[in-house]
Amino acid sequence: MTTSNTLLKEWTGPYGGVPAFDKMSITDIKPALEIGMKQHLEDIDAITANTEIPTFENTVVPMEKAGEVLDRVQRYYGIWSANVSSPEFRKIQGEMAPVMSEFQSKISQNEALFSRIKTVYDNSLIEPLEADQQRVVQLVYEGFAMNGAELDAEKKARYAAINKELSSLYTNFSNNILADEENYVVYLTKDQLSGLSESMIKSMAKIASDKGQEGKYAIPNTRSYMSPFLTYSDERELRKQVWTNYYSRCDNGDEFDNNENVAKILKLRKERVGLLGYDNYADWRLQNRMAKNSENVMNLLNQVWKASTARVKEEVADMQAVANANGDNITIEPWDYSYYAEKVRKQKYDLDSDEVKQYLQLDKLTDALFYVAKEVFNYKFTPVPEGSVPVFQEDVKVWEVSNIENGEYIGLWYLDPYARKGKRSGAWATMYRAHSTFDGEKTVLASNNSNFVKPAPGEPLLVSWDDATTFLHEFGHALHFFSSEVRYPTLNSGVRDYTEFQSQVLERWLSTDKVINQFLVHYETGNPMPKELVDKIKRASTFNQGFATTEYLASAIMDMKFHIVDPANMDVDAFERETLSEMNMPKELVMRHRTPHFGHVFSGEGYATAYYGYMWADVLTADAAEAFRESPDGFYDKELASKMVKTLFAPRNSMDPAEAYRLFRGRDAKIDALMRDRGFPTSK
Ligand SMILES: [Zn+2]
Repeated sequence: MTTSNTLLKEWTGPYGGVPAFDKMSITDIKPALEIGMKQHLEDIDAITANTEIPTFENTVVPMEKAGEVLDRVQRYYGIWSANVSSPEFRKIQGEMAPVMSEFQSKISQNEALFSRIKTVYDNSLIEPLEADQQRVVQLVYEGFAMNGAELDAEKKARYAAINKELSSLYTNFSNNILADEENYVVYLTKDQLSGLSESMIKSMAKIASDKGQEGKYAIPNTRSYMSPFLTYSDERELRKQVWTNYYSRCDNGDEFDNNENVAKILKLRKERVGLLGYDNYADWRLQNRMAKNSENVMNLLNQVWKASTARVKEEVADMQAVANANGDNITIEPWDYSYYAEKVRKQKYDLDSDEVKQYLQLDKLTDALFYVAKEVFNYKFTPVPEGSVPVFQEDVKVWEVSNIENGEYIGLWYLDPYARKGKRSGAWATMYRAHSTFDGEKTVLASNNSNFVKPAPGEPLLVSWDDATTFLHEFGHALHFFSSEVRYPTLNSGVRDYTEFQSQVLERWLSTDKVINQFLVHYETGNPMPKELVDKIKRASTFNQGFATTEYLASAIMDMKFHIVDPANMDVDAFERETLSEMNMPKELVMRHRTPHFGHVFSGEGYATAYYGYMWADVLTADAAEAFRESPDGFYDKELASKMVKTLFAPRNSMDPAEAYRLFRGRDAKIDALMRDRGFPTSK
């Protein structure tokens, strides 16, 4: 194909071809997306036009190949949206989002296509295909069936109408949250700042003056301000006000109240899965998750709930003692929790985060990643020659990844470390090209992205323990991409309650002796982090776990209950109150996300009956980490490491995750390791 549009062009050059990130032009996006979608639909038409009996080879294989051009265009689109966004791009994004969603429906509702897939699937049940092909067919078939492809015309129409209605309810739900974050800003005067840090005061003054309240100090109604304010402010009445504003978002009985939205959403979800023959939303959602059903999920959540709420009682008693010793003459209320917890933390652990930072240099941490990749995965990271691989920003660095044993080339790793305007916040991993072999060997292009503040030339970049942990976490996702050994692209897909395991487990190498002694060294003296400091960090990790685990669990359990019960006559507010009371929710804290602003669950479907997934993956993480601790060479045990890569990383989604875990551990994961990690008593 000859074209002047860079985004449409095949990736050429070294390393199996690389994206032309240095030639991206924003005017190319719209035409490239349009041509990409058109070609994808033509690919699909070619499949359905085939008059031969549907087979894996003539139906599923071309589906796996379809949309190659669009796929490339979307990688560039992803860079614009996450790494180098601009008002100009967001305008195009707003214009293209509905067009792309309509394009998706054209495929997912294509009856001729589904009928061919169904034939291949039905035949495979009689005459099984090869194991990985069978898994592809199953995943593709389920994807269509779970989204209504098998319904008759009348039900299909209702299904589509429900989705349309839901999508506007989701938008309304999120907009109401944004509105209430704007609507309830608290303004402080100079004499009300006691306890707050210099940097927080500065930032509060700036926000107040931006809002036309010169000389005052604003606390926006968001977590990033609420949380430090509750932790440090000495003004109890103001803490109460800030707490109340935050946890009442969209629950104030006004035009931004979300209770009615939640009721409607729950009813529509129930009706929609009813069309597919399911009794409740949770049954439908969990069928292809690792947890499989709501009983398994509730078993886990309830077990941890008992321990975490018991710990809350102890934490409250510790805090009450501090308050009494101070002569504060109060009973601990929810707006006191973080404040007194901080005082207990200082007394018990006395961990100075600035001291910790001096041992955490980003360059050394990057070397630590490569060291772990070498020891555990047999990977070698080599910087590519300057200028040999195009990047979208001068600070992005690229490494070649190869196998140490056989020298085989695996892929490229891009690192975009620094914050800048137009880059989304937080840290994430992404893939520009996935591994597959069915259509010629494809090598991996993976990236890690963070938002560190770029240091002055020659200065070391020092980061916090949390940021160092996140740096390893995201690298775990990248290693999961690199280790893929699947034949078909569909098998690279993620399973919501499993996909955080590979990243969480990698975090555990940060505090291994080998990493500490070689890489966690003081930026001036070069001495490794002292043992006492490491021990302090480890001890502090179980601190306040009663609070953290209970506030999380309360939200996770409510998410499950909302999607199991019949919502027909539900009063959402009363249901939340009564359910929490039945659970014996401690009165000193609230759900991490109360129902009227639980965006994970009600501003879309990504985390509906999936909020539990964080803990589900953490059970595996803790249990796998214990396997390493128990093995002869600990976290550097070659045999166990290679078993982990082989069973839990390389297969991606080519087998049932529960089965993969059994291959690794010889049994299912037990909850005990997670309980020990959080400092909770175990059953034994
Ligand atoms: Zn992650």
